[in-house]
Amino acid sequence: MKKKISAKTKRLRRIFFIVAFTAVGIILCQLYWVYFNFQTAKANFNQSATVTLWQSIDTCLLAQNTLPPSLGEMQPSLTFMMKKQANADSAGAAPTFSMKMVTVDVNADQLYWARMLLIRLLSSNENKTLRLDTLTEVYHHQLKGVGITEQFKLAIDTNSRLIRPGQIAALTHIDKRPAVVRAELINKRAFFFKMNFIPALVSTLLIALSAFSLFYMGRIIRKQMQLDTMKTDFVNNIIHELRTPLTILRTSNEAMSSFGASHDEQSLMRYLGINSLVIDDLDKNIERILDFSKIEQGKRTPMLESIDLIFLLKQAQLRFSQVNNAAINISSDEEPFEVVTDKFMIGVIVSNLIDNAIKYSTDQPKIEIVVRRLDNSWQLLIGDEGIGIPKSSIPFIFDKFYRVPTGDVHEIKGYGIGLAYVKQLVVELNGKIEVASEPGKGSVFTITFNA
Ligand code: ADP
Repeated sequence: MKKKISAKTKRLRRIFFIVAFTAVGIILCQLYWVYFNFQTAKANFNQSATVTLWQSIDTCLLAQNTLPPSLGEMQPSLTFMMKKQANADSAGAAPTFSMKMVTVDVNADQLYWARMLLIRLLSSNENKTLRLDTLTEVYHHQLKGVGITEQFKLAIDTNSRLIRPGQIAALTHIDKRPAVVRAELINKRAFFFKMNFIPALVSTLLIALSAFSLFYMGRIIRKQMQLDTMKTDFVNNIIHELRTPLTILRTSNEAMSSFGASHDEQSLMRYLGINSLVIDDLDKNIERILDFSKIEQGKRTPMLESIDLIFLLKQAQLRFSQVNNAAINISSDEEPFEVVTDKFMIGVIVSNLIDNAIKYSTDQPKIEIVVRRLDNSWQLLIGDEGIGIPKSSIPFIFDKFYRVPTGDVHEIKGYGIGLAYVKQLVVELNGKIEVASEPGKGSVFTITFNA
């Protein structure tokens, strides 16, 4: 039968999907942001490096050529000769020219560009060679001025104007020929790593944090959903467990009142005996649930005293060996085995484990109890040759309401709180509990307490 999904579970699922969708969105935005950031930084870097290359070429050319002194005066100016064909309109006549001297003022904003333009024009007209080592030195010096400390390899090419990806270039003239100056980062990888390290680190952290939150939330929601199902099972179980004793009580009541059992003393005693057993059983189960909740809420703290563990175990042995004819063996190096613990708590631990060992054995239960001392601790082992626990269920058996799934119907009665209660008590007593089990062979529960 397929289990009905509760409204709460459905709501949790919906929330999970919304959160998952949001988290994936955040992660994608982060990735896009890193990529966009990288592209922008790369473009800015290339632009700065290119502008600086042009400026470095100009600086070198400036050192090689002489500019008109009028550009260095208080009021910079340029004087040039305008040559004009005077008889351009009269066809067939030999051309005559007129000349005119023009002086123009160069203001502060134009001065830099005027100087550079002149330098480029002058050097393209002369047989001058741009020295690569000088240019490299000037370039690196000027790069530092704009905050770039990376090393570039420069090359001057008068044959081809091809620029490969990753290269930056500027045009100039060498020996009257047009030339391309190419610059390429020497250690590209280190540069891009440095450029992206902090944003990538921040993003990676954010992405990891988002992914972890999503994963953690998923786990909590899954656990919550499991708990929800287990709680429903628990309530169903309890109702079922209450119905059975009620039916027994009702039947024996009817027998006593309708069939005259009250006049037959033997039958009366038998029915009363059954009723009292059923009531005891009910009482025990209710006590167990209430006690568990008290321990869980921290309302019951351990009351430590020195006890003989063997005596306590023998009492349990006496009580349980009547159930299903269980064979319970106790072994210890010491007798008495004195320990300081909470008598009630250790009693509940032992009872619950023996109870389970009997419940989960198919034939006559064979239970082996061992107590032993270690260096700074003592151990209590309760083993059985019962049905064992599948490996996949072992991590969950100490969870509240968990029962090893056996299909839709549970043959063996229980609420799934016995081991959770045991674990809670062991933790209260500062101990730890472990289990080793193999389906079909049996289980051993080992509890270790500090001495
Ligand atoms: P329950 O009320 O179901 O017995 P417990 O919390 O005591 O609840 O145990 C949880 C589950 O662990 C049980 O449903 C059972 O499947 C498994 N289990 C516990 N003890 C044993 C055991 N000794 N042998 C096999 N299975 C066990």
